[in-house]
Amino acid sequence: MTTTVTATAIPMLTDNYSWLLLEIATGTTGIVDPAEAAPAIAAIEAAGGKLDYIFITHHHGDHIDGIPELVARYHPKIIGNAADAHRLPKLDIAVREGDSVPFGNTQAQIFNTPGHTIGHIAYYFADAGILLPGDTLFSLGCGRLFEGSAADMFGAFQKFAPLPDATLICAGHEYTASNAKFALAQDPTNAALQARATEVTHLRAEGKHTLPVTLGQERATNPFIRAETAQAFASLRKAKDNF
Ligand code: ZN
Ligand code: FE
Repeated sequence: MTTTVTATAIPMLTDNYSWLLLEIATGTTGIVDPAEAAPAIAAIEAAGGKLDYIFITHHHGDHIDGIPELVARYHPKIIGNAADAHRLPKLDIAVREGDSVPFGNTQAQIFNTPGHTIGHIAYYFADAGILLPGDTLFSLGCGRLFEGSAADMFGAFQKFAPLPDATLICAGHEYTASNAKFALAQDPTNAALQARATEVTHLRAEGKHTLPVTLGQERATNPFIRAETAQAFASLRKAKDNF
């Protein structure tokens, strides 16, 4: 893994993260799930004032509402799930699972990750070791099941299983502190989880982000990744809904 792409969190709304992507060799730029235009424009201008691509993980407003203004200003190419095109801004690059989307000298692989929504996808930059799971996987948690089943989301998680521990997870929300409470209630004797919860408390007290986090860290601490069966995953998700 080499640093071919950098991913920088841009806080939006109350707890969303959009991600600014820069492919270093060619200066290619992208933004993932811009909920709002103003903070996106500020970050893009600070990085050189150019936007080549917008990556969409799913159709919710807190992931796409900033797009029209960014399109009018920068004319980027919009990438999203072909199967969800009817409820997304107009796509320039409609993708499917297994596709690779060029991004400068590198590319993003597409995973279908249904559960939170049926048409949810994730982007994976293998050479950079960056995963953009949207609202599928959060630090110490996972997305709510608005459209798909627990079995769908468990299946999506299995697609992340082959990825290296060093993979950086650039998720769509800063939910880590509240997720930590549920995770600790499920797994109170997990020392790695206790250490992460303490770290998260300190980071948030200092106003710092808890993301990105490595997949290895999540494998040691996130109860949803640690669930071994679809049934275990489903009962955890149900317990979290009622927590
Ligand atoms: Zn969502
Ligand atoms: Fe969201």
